[in-house]
Amino acid sequence: MKINKNFDNLVPNYLFAEVASRTNKFISENPDKKVIRLGIGDVTLPLAPVVVDAMVKGAKELGVKETFKGYPDYEGYEFLREAISGYYKSFGVTVNADEIFVSDGAKSDCGNIGDIFSKDNTVLVTDPVYPVYVDSNIMSGREIVYADSNEQNGFAAMPDDSVKADIIYLCSPNNPTGSAYTYKQLKTWVDYAIKNDAIILYDCAYEAFITEDLPRSIYAVEGARSCAIEMCSLSKTAGFTGTRCGYTVIPKELERDGHNIYKTWYRRQATKFNGVSWPVQCAAAAVFSEEGQKQIKENIAYYQANAKIIADAMDELGIYYTGGKNSPYIWLKCPDNMKSWDFFDLLLKEANVVGTPGSGFGKNGEGFFRLTAFGDRDNTKEAVERIKKVLKK
Ligand code: PLP
Repeated sequence: MKINKNFDNLVPNYLFAEVASRTNKFISENPDKKVIRLGIGDVTLPLAPVVVDAMVKGAKELGVKETFKGYPDYEGYEFLREAISGYYKSFGVTVNADEIFVSDGAKSDCGNIGDIFSKDNTVLVTDPVYPVYVDSNIMSGREIVYADSNEQNGFAAMPDDSVKADIIYLCSPNNPTGSAYTYKQLKTWVDYAIKNDAIILYDCAYEAFITEDLPRSIYAVEGARSCAIEMCSLSKTAGFTGTRCGYTVIPKELERDGHNIYKTWYRRQATKFNGVSWPVQCAAAAVFSEEGQKQIKENIAYYQANAKIIADAMDELGIYYTGGKNSPYIWLKCPDNMKSWDFFDLLLKEANVVGTPGSGFGKNGEGFFRLTAFGDRDNTKEAVERIKKVLKK
């Protein structure tokens, strides 16, 4: 018996464990201090009422012989795929219901999609990066190349024509940097992918946070249907982090190496995935109803207002940052050229605020720090006042 030795090549990810350990140590040594966490990437508001009603109705249907459901379709129920297709139409993008795969979330799809591609492909990720893209490809033994996101390009990495890549992960609006690509920038990536005969894996888990005139889907860009797969999630859009539902779009005409990508992924899903439960698909469809959209937008507006509170404080302090406008993340430059972990310790000790050190997301994250807008309003306000007090000293 032999183990997959590629796992030995994974860099141990201490980021969140180390954040928790330093925070817990501080709390146990300072039990009188109220620590506020602005590091979390999880949502805190409850599901919208219309979503809960649909889930309860769906669950009850499972308890009645006439409406009981067994295994769902591998690609998801048609009513949900139609609802998602209608959602794309609402912002002017055509994605047909029969190009959509409903899943248990974007993390699984981002990680699993590699099953259908050869180990010989070179993978390109932007740095700083959502670690799933890197680790899932290290597990498969693929070579990874990095495109730098940094202060010079506003943390929105662009392709280098001298670098050859086969699989390209893009995330916009970006986790962790909060930057979002413009139409022109995405078109440059699409042209690069077509030139390289590559496929873009486009993660738009945060598209619902876009407020400006920026692409909410890669298919808003000409040529994308011939080179891109898109992954999205209801986790941040509608608070489904615990409920679990997402979707992946594969244009029917997308082909590589003599193979149809939609059919290949369908075969993979039919073999390794048995679908999303009936109550969850009912709840997901409710997100896309008129009332559902109204209710989830109230929650998103709450987080966006938190993001503005943090971003305004950065403006006031004269600190460079990206995100905050089209994203729940504020990616800031640590003052006085501090290293990410030193700034973490300073904020924890002096302001009793927890954030996430940027260095945990890649080499270009060193000297940067991530704050999130997913917290409670009063806590966000208090945290920001404390940060301002410490940094104005
Ligand atoms: N993609 C990005 C960029 C994320 O930040 C996250 C969650 O933090 C996910 C995907 C995971 O989404 P899901 O909850 O649908 O698995």
